Amino acid sequence: MGKNHAYRNLKLCSKDCLCLFVCPTGATNNETGQIDFEKCIGCGACAAACPARAITMLPNKMPPAQPKNLTVISELFKIVNNKIEANRILKKLLKENKEDERVLKTLIHSNKVMIEDLIREAGYMLPQSKNTHEFLEKIKANGDETAKEIVQKLLDKIEINE
Ligand code: SF4
Ligand code: SF4
Repeated sequence: MGKNHAYRNLKLCSKDCLCLFVCPTGATNNETGQIDFEKCIGCGACAAACPARAITMLPNKMPPAQPKNLTVISELFKIVNNKIEANRILKKLLKENKEDERVLKTLIHSNKVMIEDLIREAGYMLPQSKNTHEFLEKIKANGDETAKEIVQKLLDKIEINE
């Protein structure tokens, strides 16, 4: 296995094209939509050939997460709490106002996406962070058998590095 690994974004993939033909190891599979982790040698040929830019090369070992800066975290929580409050108001409006349903739903979704992006980009929920692993352990402890199995696979794949 190489230093990198190819990941396919199924939402962007238009299916049945170049990555199948350029992969030297047969790791891309369009029937399941997955890239075989065991076969992928991280050469990047599929990502370079993909016309939809659906494949991203990611390192197998994530770089160390930056130390968490308390000022950044405090400002992050202020912004996130504002967005949560905005969504609380938007949901109330949504109940009362069916005419603007699409606009209100879009704003709620947009706030959710911004919250996720802010938390990740502030370094608070990187896959290699200890707090992400603690969060996954909680899901595993409270989930059903399927959730436990999926979460364990994630935990096995991504080492803590901070
Ligand atoms: S080359 Fe890109 S768009 Fe085509 S099947 Fe592969 S991942 Fe999908
Ligand atoms: S990175 Fe190389 S080996 Fe891995 S799936 Fe893409 S073409 Fe195949």
